[in-house]
Amino acid sequence: MKPIPYGRQNIEQDDIDAVVKTLAADFLTQGPKVKEFEDKFAEYVGAKYAVAVNNATSGLHLAVLALGLKEGERVITTPITFAASANCVKYAGGEVWFADIDPKTYLLDINSVKKLIESKPKGFFKGIIPVDFAGLPVNLEEFKSLADEHNLWIIEDACHAPGGYFVDPKGLKQMCGNGNYADIGVFSFHPVKHIACGEGGMITTNSELLYKKLCSLRTHGITKENMTENHGGWYYEMQELGFNYRLTDIQSALGITQLAKNKEGVVRRNQISDTYKKAFVRKIKFQMLPENTYNAHHLFVIEVENRKGLYDYLRMHQIFAQIHYIPVHTLPYYREIGYNKASLENAENYYSKCISLPMYPSLTDEEQEFVIGKVLGFVVKDK
Ligand SMILES: *Cc1c(COP(=O)(O)O)cnc(C)c1O
Repeated sequence: MKPIPYGRQNIEQDDIDAVVKTLAADFLTQGPKVKEFEDKFAEYVGAKYAVAVNNATSGLHLAVLALGLKEGERVITTPITFAASANCVKYAGGEVWFADIDPKTYLLDINSVKKLIESKPKGFFKGIIPVDFAGLPVNLEEFKSLADEHNLWIIEDACHAPGGYFVDPKGLKQMCGNGNYADIGVFSFHPVKHIACGEGGMITTNSELLYKKLCSLRTHGITKENMTENHGGWYYEMQELGFNYRLTDIQSALGITQLAKNKEGVVRRNQISDTYKKAFVRKIKFQMLPENTYNAHHLFVIEVENRKGLYDYLRMHQIFAQIHYIPVHTLPYYREIGYNKASLENAENYYSKCISLPMYPSLTDEEQEFVIGKVLGFVVKDK
C-alpha cells in the first residue's frame, strides 16, 4: 500500500487545462480570472462580496485591519487552531486572549467566551475570531447575540469549512462565510484544505464599506477612485498604507475549477466520516456533530489515550496522521508573552489525546479500511 497522508489535493486534467490556458492569456495577475473566482466563490457561500488574496493569513490580517483593530486592542480566539488565527491580531499590534473549547465539538466554547468578557470592564475586547475547526461550523447565531450585546465584531475563520453550514432558529441554512452572522469570513486555498490554489485565500463579507476597505488594503492602499486631485490618466493616489496581498490569475483559474468540485468533495468527505464513525462508535471518541449542522470535514479527529503510540504505529504502516493543533497559547512565542498562564483545561486535555486521520475525497475505500483496521488494532490491543 502506498503512503496515506492525512490530507491531499485533488488535481485533475480540467484543473491543469485551466491553468495552462491562463498562462497563455493576456493576464497572469490582476486580470479577469480573479474577479470570476471572487464572484463564483461569493455565490457559492452566499455572501455579497468576496476578495481574493494570496493566502488566508493575509486575509486574516486585512480582516482585522479593515475592522479597525488598533494597537493594544484585545481580541478573543480559540487555542485549538492554526497559529494564523491569533497571529493576525499581533500583526495589527493587538492583544490575543484565548477562551477554552467545548470538549465535545472542539470549537470555541461560547460560555467560556462569555465568562471571559464578563470578567472584564465594558469595552475591554473589540472582537472574536471563532474557527470552524475541522470543518464543523461554529453556531454564529449564538455568537452574534453575544457580540452585539458587547459591541464586538466577529471574524469567522472558515479556512476548514467551505461548504459547511448550520441551520439557524428560523430554519435557514447558513453557509460558512456567508456573512449573515459574522462581519467577515476567511478561507484558505492551501493544498491540504478543500480548494487547492498552491497558496491562496478568500475574504467574504456583506458590507460594502468593508469590501472597499479590503480591496484597497490588498493593493497598497492605492486607488483611482475618490481622488482628491487628478493630474491625468496616469494619476493615482495612495490613500493609506496597504500591502500586496493579491492572488494571481493563474491561481484563480485553478481556484475556479477546484471550487466547482467542492460540493461533491464535501459529500465524499462526509461519506468517509460516516464510515469512520460506524467503525469507531462506542470504541473511540470523535468530534461530536451538533444537530442541524453540516460538517465540511477538512479533518476527521479522534481522541485516544496513547496518542503518541498510535501516531508512531500508524507511521510504521505508512499512514501519516497529523495532530491539530498544538494549543496556540503553549507555542513558545505566545508562552514568552505570558499566555501560558491561561487556564484552558479542555484545550490542553484535548491536545494530549487528539489525532487527525486521513480525510480527503480521493481516499479510497480500501485505503480507509486499512486505516480503520490499524487504528482499531492498536487501540484495542493497547487496552
Ligand atoms: C490554514 C489555516 C490558516 C492559514 O491559511 P494560509 O492560507 O496557509 O495562510 C488560517 N486559519 C486556519 C484555521 C487554517 O487552518
